[in-house]
Amino acid sequence: MASLYFKFAAMNSGKSTQLLQAHYNYFERGMNPMALTAKIDDRFGSGKITARIGLDLHAEVFTPETDVYALVAKAHEAKKVDALLIDEAQFLTPAQVMECARLVDDMDIPVMCYGLKTDFMGKLFPGSEALLRFADNLEEIKTICWCGRKATHTARVTSKGDVVREGAQIAIGGNDMYVSLCRKHFMRGEPAAQKASDKDKAAA
Ligand SMILES: [Zn+2]
Repeated sequence: MASLYFKFAAMNSGKSTQLLQAHYNYFERGMNPMALTAKIDDRFGSGKITARIGLDLHAEVFTPETDVYALVAKAHEAKKVDALLIDEAQFLTPAQVMECARLVDDMDIPVMCYGLKTDFMGKLFPGSEALLRFADNLEEIKTICWCGRKATHTARVTSKGDVVREGAQIAIGGNDMYVSLCRKHFMRGEPAAQKASDKDKAAA
């Protein structure tokens, strides 16, 4: 029985590395995994999933207009697809999440979605909300804040180290950076130990 998985985390948690590992595990067993990533993410050239450890993988891309069910069903017709692995799954539309559910339920293809749970304002991405509601299996991939606590949030930070609170949900590239923080340091807007001690000094 296939399942719909949502493996979620904050930024820089090694999600793509885990996806590449899962892909390799299928491949090694002589199976045919299919990889999909969001077209919006062209940091490394579209159609490629790149992990920070230096590996990469060719992937099909999806935009909000892609019919994920039809895309995979067509590939499956040509060659049996043993699993679908989706990176940047927070960018799936809720309708696409339901297409993934149909791949699981109607075609018995396991679908593993890797993505962020919340945006830099702490709000659920629509795709992540749909996955949290409909996935059979939820798994949190853990990473840590600079303070050592579990990082549950992703902050958008300017080059000066200030936390950004407003703006477009999706702003990949540009000069802003993303930092994984625990709730306390996300709420306080302290993306590094330095910022926290600056505030302590100001308060003293
Ligand atoms: Zn912290």
